Amino acid sequence: MDFFLAGKWQGREQRIDVTNPANNEVIDTVPNASADDVEIAVRSAVDGATVMAALTGYERFRILRRAADLMIERRDEIARTLSSEEGKPIREATVEVERSMQSLELSGEEAKRLGGEVLPLDGGQGVQQKLGFTLRVPCGVVAAITPFNFPLNLVCHKVGPAIASGNAVVLKPASDTPLVALKLIEVLLDAGLPPLGISCITGSGRVVGKQICGDRRVRKISFTGSQDVGQQICKVAGIKKVTMELGANSPLIVLPDADIDKVVTATLSSGFANAGQVCISAQRLIVADEIHDELMGKLIPKIESIVSGDQLEPDTEMGPMVRVSDAQRVHAWIKEAASEGAKIACGGQCDGAFMQPTLVLDAKPEMKIVREELFGPGIAVCSARDIDDAIRMANDSHYGLSAGVFTQDIDAAVRFAKEVHSGNIHINWGPMWRTDLMPYGGLKASGIGKEGPKYAIEEMTEMKSVVIHS
Ligand code: NAD
Repeated sequence: MDFFLAGKWQGREQRIDVTNPANNEVIDTVPNASADDVEIAVRSAVDGATVMAALTGYERFRILRRAADLMIERRDEIARTLSSEEGKPIREATVEVERSMQSLELSGEEAKRLGGEVLPLDGGQGVQQKLGFTLRVPCGVVAAITPFNFPLNLVCHKVGPAIASGNAVVLKPASDTPLVALKLIEVLLDAGLPPLGISCITGSGRVVGKQICGDRRVRKISFTGSQDVGQQICKVAGIKKVTMELGANSPLIVLPDADIDKVVTATLSSGFANAGQVCISAQRLIVADEIHDELMGKLIPKIESIVSGDQLEPDTEMGPMVRVSDAQRVHAWIKEAASEGAKIACGGQCDGAFMQPTLVLDAKPEMKIVREELFGPGIAVCSARDIDDAIRMANDSHYGLSAGVFTQDIDAAVRFAKEVHSGNIHINWGPMWRTDLMPYGGLKASGIGKEGPKYAIEEMTEMKSVVIHS
């Protein structure tokens, strides 16, 4: 596919291969953008920002509403592309397309609700005869930089709210998964988005992404990706608004009174969806000593029965990781844990980009599979003496994106909600749960700001105070 720049689809001689990670076959190619392309994208977005700000809320709602409908009309085709380039099973890819439709729909609804507030100015000493109110105005040019693992819905979580609030967007999708982002552009243009309202350029994050983020004309960066890259972006961003949705090593705590069957179901979905390549994957399973053996007895056979294979086959439950090098990294971390005394209860091998679903017992806080973000199909099991120990272990991380606890004890659940340092807390479910309207984002090194259309719009707009003096 070509990229969409300054109102036109354009090709470039230098191109990037997009491959299917299951077999390394090239599915398509996309242009490799240059520094000149970034300059053109930002310049046209400055013009586009004027066009977008002139649309009414109702017009922006109509564009997004229509885009949501067109997305569903193209669901199967887009899901196939998504599954092929990312590696997630076709079932999960289809759910992602449906969620993306909802993210556009929710964003469209918010376009009609951009209000301000009346300011009670006469509460200030000596203030009389003044009327004050706030206005929310678009930031102007929004840069959206997105990761590979939800290459459609996470783009919709940025592009939807940006359009809803009247901004122009410069989008830079991940180089492994640019095709669905480009298909989204087709959908938005077909839905009536003014062509200058968005550019989508494909190319190296280190070169193109960095240049976009450092440009002073870009007034807002919305980034989802790794902590390392988030840090690099913050260094070059200068004075502009920044949202950072970063990684994690999320804990799932199981207290002695947990419903074990429910824990097994939640652990499987939280640990192995998208081959563990989800920012809120359950990575650390912190289990009370009393319940440990019973839980493992039920969990291990279920993990062993996960059907792994070609992601486009309807029965496949787990596909390849996005790159061979990622599978090799996860494999190496697991082998390292084993050499440090942990026990591999199941899985542990890799073949090309396929890493087996793996459970590691007797994991210790200093092991890499506990401390760092694994971002693969592996869960490390740690034992906890009691709730205090479990909460301390959950908080023993520089991350804080999502956490789950299983308990029937309301007091324990409330303590967990109050004391665990995490942006999302789930009682009686795993850390991997999100619906697209809720405020979503991390604490500590997991990020800054919130997504979810209503909350993202606050971050993509600026507030003005207006005072009428009479
Ligand atoms: P990544 O950080 O490697 O890349 C993300 C994007 O940044 C890509 O488009 C990449 O090209 C671009 N990029 C790379 N270097 C850049 C630079 N110097 N300047 C600007 N842009 C640059 O992440 P990834 O491997 O694609 O995705 C996995 C990571 O994303 C994991 O850490 C995961 O936890 C995180 N993630 C977080 C959330 C969340 O909501 N918190 C959601 C999904 C993924």
